[in-house]
Amino acid sequence: MKCPKDKVDMSPMTMLSTVIDICPLCNGCWLDKNELQRITRSRKNALEVQLQKKRKTENRCPRCRGVLHEGAHQSIEDLMLDECEKCGGIWLDRGELPRLLSSPQ
Ligand SMILES: [Zn+2]
Ligand SMILES: [Zn+2]
Repeated sequence: MKCPKDKVDMSPMTMLSTVIDICPLCNGCWLDKNELQRITRSRKNALEVQLQKKRKTENRCPRCRGVLHEGAHQSIEDLMLDECEKCGGIWLDRGELPRLLSSPQ
């Protein structure tokens, strides 16, 4: 699977016993919909991402080639994430995963 921004092969990394894909160049990571659920399964409230004010980007989903849409996280306004409309996967730039995981909902 290739980074949607740099188009280089991403490397697998294990996080909370789930294998996710990290780009060696930009340190962004790709989470499939089920991977996000697995990473957050121990939380009291399952983590749901509902992006606000979505807009189309030039980037394509590394999983299904669907168009990625960028939007703001529903409770952290300055956290901008890219989501595939087709498969529900999410692209996180470097440093965005810890912020997402620390969100209350
Ligand atoms: Zn990259
Ligand atoms: Zn997709």
